[in-house]
Amino acid sequence: WAQTADGSPWIGVSCQTQGADLWWPVKDHPSDRPDSLAISITVPKGLVAASNGKLLGTRERNEKTTFDWFLSTPINPYNVTVNIAPYVTISDTYISTAGDSVETTFWVLPEDEAKGKELFPQFIEQMRFYEEMLGPYAFRDEKYGIVHTPYLGMEHQTIIAYGAGFKDGALFGQHSDYDDLMHHELGHEWWGNLVSVADWKDFWIHEGITTYMQALFTEQRRGMDAYFANMQYFSTMIDNRQPLAPRESRSAGQMYQGRDVYYKGASVLHTLRYLVGDERFFTILRRFAYPDPKMEAITDGSSMRYSSTEEFRNIAEKHGEMSLDWFFEVYMYQPELPELVSMVQGDNLILEWVTPGNLTFNMPVEVVVNDISAKITFIDNKAVVPISVTGDYEIDPNHWVLRKKR
Ligand SMILES: [Zn+2]
Repeated sequence: WAQTADGSPWIGVSCQTQGADLWWPVKDHPSDRPDSLAISITVPKGLVAASNGKLLGTRERNEKTTFDWFLSTPINPYNVTVNIAPYVTISDTYISTAGDSVETTFWVLPEDEAKGKELFPQFIEQMRFYEEMLGPYAFRDEKYGIVHTPYLGMEHQTIIAYGAGFKDGALFGQHSDYDDLMHHELGHEWWGNLVSVADWKDFWIHEGITTYMQALFTEQRRGMDAYFANMQYFSTMIDNRQPLAPRESRSAGQMYQGRDVYYKGASVLHTLRYLVGDERFFTILRRFAYPDPKMEAITDGSSMRYSSTEEFRNIAEKHGEMSLDWFFEVYMYQPELPELVSMVQGDNLILEWVTPGNLTFNMPVEVVVNDISAKITFIDNKAVVPISVTGDYEIDPNHWVLRKKR
């Protein structure tokens, strides 16, 4: 409950960790969603109420206006929201990569309309990035909505909460030369709203993949060096206190402890990309969003599905064309990072992966010897690299492989 510059009400709702049952009667579990929602909001005349789905119409009575919204797609209860203020709207029609027209609207406070107009092209640019990378926006029949909120942000389906103050880099400072808060919340329309976890234990799928998408956006804008710098920055925020994807059921609050669902999730994807190579990796991402390419043609959001770390592994194994149980055992199901121990013996560099419980971990590593780079393969967690008489070598110069730092 906030106020605008002229003292008008400015109201928003966000409740992911507390639960939607805080404000409406609901079976509040991520594994079961309402199929559709009718939301009617009555406000004093002059105020505007923006919500999920499509606006069916407005009704006036006794100096009050009722806004009737209808969402025809399944939705996570925590994504249901109302937003009230004397909003003005900035609108355009976005043409999806699938060819469909998507009504795009930003509800913004009147005092920030000019800033809203300046920011709007970024909303379009970011939407195109996601569609090209992952397949079409799933809720094309409803709208691409963004609403100015008195709190930082939230991925409310078809009505993204935006409160980053029209400043680039609200999340990652100098690592982002774009509106990274908006980019993060929009990413959840794929990772969270199209692909949803049925249990919070797999929450990294929402936050980790979305966070990784930001490094990919940086790469697209500023190249590989900026991407590597972005990933290095993410890796400094990893705690390793609990498994990234615990095997047992968890609450949202439990999974929000620490930041691993964001930054370790992103870092594991970065390592997976190195392991399987770019072509396979980007196929994995797209087929995890839409396992069947035919699903990409669906415009009404019914392409949404429940997913899990296990499903991700199956898709990664299929399109990565390799067995990945060892990779998931080490990075997902237990907290500790693997350690790469190195030792020079004569003309050889001896490398060994040390893992908790001696888990098998034959993760290849880039080694540069006399300016020549090679992807070194491991057997029984060990590798031997000839380094010749100069003894000049560098291990994993681009930090592709997530591991314990000494
Ligand atoms: Zn998020």
